[in-house]
Amino acid sequence: MITGIKHIAIAVRDVNAALKKYEGLLGVKGVTRHEFEKARSSEAHFMLGGIQIQLCRSWDAAGRFARYIEEHRDEGVHHICYTTDDIESELAAAVSNGAVLKPCAACRVTGAHKHSEGWVAFLQDRLSGLETEFMQVYKPGEGPDAGPRTA
Ligand SMILES: [Zn+2]
Repeated sequence: MITGIKHIAIAVRDVNAALKKYEGLLGVKGVTRHEFEKARSSEAHFMLGGIQIQLCRSWDAAGRFARYIEEHRDEGVHHICYTTDDIESELAAAVSNGAVLKPCAACRVTGAHKHSEGWVAFLQDRLSGLETEFMQVYKPGEGPDAGPRTA
């Protein structure tokens, strides 16, 4: 079952310039900055109305956020990450309804796999032009360094 929205990722050309607008126009505070070596992206994360917003810039022209900007000729919402209480059954249900899983751009893994905050998976299918990510957020005791996922 989808239980909420973990984050909304927005492709930007310049994280500092974008962040300045969010801070100025929406009063955003509590920003964390990230340089993701594996995903090759620079990001600013902050909470807005209970949902995490991620401003994301690819380091390379072939990166997924750079490609988004190229395709759309503008910045915009790249993907929505939905939280689920059971990622395997979420994926099974989507696939049984015709969805195709997509390899993770950072890990090159298709299907549910570990990220820093939870198990994640991506759909090839775009929903209204947006990529879809699922995340089963780790419970206490679980984590990227803990053992294999148990249902
Ligand atoms: Zn991954």
